[in-house]
Amino acid sequence: MHGTSERIEERARRLGFDLIGIAPAHLPQMHLRAYRDWLARGDHGQMAYMARPDRVARREDPSLILPEVRSVVCVAVNYYPGDPGEAEERGREAHADDTPRGRVSNYAWGTDYHDWMRPRLEELAGFIRAEVGGDVRYRAYVDTGPVLERAFAAQAGLGFIGKNTCLIHPRLGSWLFLGEILVDVDLPSPVAPLPPRCGTCTRCLEACPTGALTAPYRLDGRRCISYLTIEHKGSIPPELRPLMGNRIYGCDICQEVCPWQRFARTTAIPAFQTASSDRPAPSLWNLMTLDEEGFHQRFAGSPILRIGRGRLLRNVAVALGNSGDARAVPTLTAALCDPAPLVRAHAAWALRRLGGPEAAHALDAARQRETSPEVRQELVATLTEEAVQR
Ligand code: SF4
Ligand code: SF4
Repeated sequence: MHGTSERIEERARRLGFDLIGIAPAHLPQMHLRAYRDWLARGDHGQMAYMARPDRVARREDPSLILPEVRSVVCVAVNYYPGDPGEAEERGREAHADDTPRGRVSNYAWGTDYHDWMRPRLEELAGFIRAEVGGDVRYRAYVDTGPVLERAFAAQAGLGFIGKNTCLIHPRLGSWLFLGEILVDVDLPSPVAPLPPRCGTCTRCLEACPTGALTAPYRLDGRRCISYLTIEHKGSIPPELRPLMGNRIYGCDICQEVCPWQRFARTTAIPAFQTASSDRPAPSLWNLMTLDEEGFHQRFAGSPILRIGRGRLLRNVAVALGNSGDARAVPTLTAALCDPAPLVRAHAAWALRRLGGPEAAHALDAARQRETSPEVRQELVATLTEEAVQR
């Protein structure tokens, strides 16, 4: 099989992947232990698919996905779309307004990365089949499969896992999409795993606004803004809302502060670049007025589409509450009549946070008419806190 791994690597690079490596199909105990401990602490929050017994068994034993699996071909592609601050400034200039803006995670500025990754992984799998010969069986995944993909990528030498729990490549940083192909054939792994390189640095732990990095290499998803804005389905815990700032889809803070990101270079792949000048830092006022049809039109082809209008507007309401900009009161007042109770509830919280007579009047009127128990709870909380403050 001499030279096979090199030819697979060459093909992967021609397909546009920046990094490629091969790991044995069974992970060392330290990765499995870290996964089990994470589940035992409940750090996966509402991501029940991470804890389903059949899924756990497959993550621990990939031969339950592909019998006789021997190797995992891991790939990564750099998606860094450019400096977020500069992108926000360009958006402001293009739209000539000074209204509050939200921040969208770097990975969601472009089109849905699954659409770019999947066909290329399939093509690479086809190449491996042709190269190795025989009846090679495979399974290809882009972050949705029951595979501990970051652990496999580390074992394949694609980078080391940092204290922020991200995979970091010493010459590319951590703005990486990962994919993997499980194959039932032994492929040589020419590269050894990299040792951790965080040293004494603790920048990510100090910068996390919600304390979600509870210790080095340990992430409590339930406190993570990325989880709260994307995966979490219902009401956001009130004590975390003020800490979320203007992050409305994902959060990159623990990556932005990482010194290894100084090696990041802007991606050459158009699909990962900004889909519109307004995508990295969209106007919160505009988002808050999107109806269902407008939401689908605006986010067609974007990963943001997957969380749905209700969750996005929930996040936008929190960001407006945190903006301190009283000009948002009329927009939030209108949102108190939104068809989605989730949106009404968070709009109520945002109005309370902004305060002032106009907001108080809107909240009073909502208390008279609101019938949803979920929203009423927010309105009663508002009433109680106001009573305490008086
Ligand atoms: Fe903290 Fe944001 Fe990193 Fe989550 S993504 S751990 S909230 S800094
Ligand atoms: Fe490691 Fe520092 Fe980067 Fe955190 S910020 S992942 S501690 S190098």
